[in-house]
Amino acid sequence: MDFDLSEELKQYGKKVREFSLKEFSNKVASIYDIQEQYPDELRIKALKEGIIDFSNPWKTMIGIEEMCRVDPGLGISVTVPFFGAEVLMLHGSDHLKEKYLGKVAAGEKIMGLGVTEPGGGSDVAGLKTVARKEGNKYVVNGSKMFITNGTIADFFVMLVRTAHPDDPAKRHRGLSVLVVERNFKGFDSNKLTGKLGVRATNTAELILNNVEVPAENLVGDEGKGFYYIMEFFNISRIFVAAQSIGIAQGVLDRTTDFLKNLEKNGDYVGEERKFKLAEMATRVEASRLLMYKAASFLFNYNPNPTLTSMAKGYASETASFAAETAMEITGQTGLNSEIERFFRDSKIMEIWEGTSEVEKIVISRMILKGDKNE
Ligand SMILES: Cc1cc2nc3c(=O)[nH]c(=O)nc-3n(C[C@H](O)[C@H](O)[C@H](O)COP(=O)(O)OP(=O)(O)OC[C@H]3O[C@@H](n4cnc5c(N)ncnc54)[C@H](O)[C@@H]3O)c2cc1C
Repeated sequence: MDFDLSEELKQYGKKVREFSLKEFSNKVASIYDIQEQYPDELRIKALKEGIIDFSNPWKTMIGIEEMCRVDPGLGISVTVPFFGAEVLMLHGSDHLKEKYLGKVAAGEKIMGLGVTEPGGGSDVAGLKTVARKEGNKYVVNGSKMFITNGTIADFFVMLVRTAHPDDPAKRHRGLSVLVVERNFKGFDSNKLTGKLGVRATNTAELILNNVEVPAENLVGDEGKGFYYIMEFFNISRIFVAAQSIGIAQGVLDRTTDFLKNLEKNGDYVGEERKFKLAEMATRVEASRLLMYKAASFLFNYNPNPTLTSMAKGYASETASFAAETAMEITGQTGLNSEIERFFRDSKIMEIWEGTSEVEKIVISRMILKGDKNE
């Protein structure tokens, strides 16, 4: 058993870290945070400099962690234009992949994933947006809520109900995935402002009013959308674990510097603060090991949803724990530093891609079914 990363991955992580330290300074990050602006120029720069490399999932995971370690809002913003791409990669026709994915990879387009609705996000099978088939098109009506890239994405991989809404037998099997373009008639979006954290990311409500979507924009088979999205979450949760570990490591770095400075100046540190630091560091390490284990199954084409949900659930709770502990250790210094922004940014980790409760539902269900994590 080897717990070390390959030399190639270490070098890649170093390159991403250097880029992030240079481009995501506290000053720059504060401006995007306060103005709630999406950092489009940083997205382009990161792509041009080869910082974003989606050809190797290990690189994606390590890159996300390194960027979020420097600034979560900017790190997530520059890596999220591909959000939902795996659904198209795994189930889209060659025509859809060529038409949509190539342009995202080239930096010419941004995409998004539309699942959550105003009525709630955890109960995915309860969604109400309806797509009615009419000849060679679907007519879509409904709305989506809290959609990342909502006012900047060119198109969305969207989960909709294609079966009759009153058919209980089709609650899960009545959902399908469509690619919906922003410029289709009847599509509208409203930016949501005033979020607690990750304020550089763009979040919006989407409104679909008789939007006509060509039938060829159906991804995979009709009625299998729910399963495609669950499969997607079993991939994307690894990347949320990486965001979370980046946040936790980021506050650990800053808290360590703070305590070292106190020691250097001969100021009071105290055993209790050192114990808290030790607990933060231990949880970060445990989260990372769990993520690596889940990733090693997933990236070797043998996904293990129990491990993936454990990795996402534990890492996201570690991010919140570490950020809160950092605030306690650093006191008033922390309140006026980057740690304050990390503290606000950490909370979303426990919400998107499945709340902590949802991860526990998945884990317990799999254990009770007899899954042994092998
Ligand atoms: C900044 C931001 C960006 C987002 N980006 C996207 C995006 O790009 N695309 C997208 O589709 N969605 C996105 N979301 C939505 C996100 O995935 C949902 O917020 C999340 O799934 C939770 O749904 P909800 O907020 O509606 O909470 P709810 O589902 O209403 O849950 C509320 C509370 O009840 C608990 N709960 C719900 N059901 C159960 C249950 N059965 N058992 C126990 N507890 C339960 C939850 O854990 C939670 O604590 C985003 C959200 C935010 C805040």
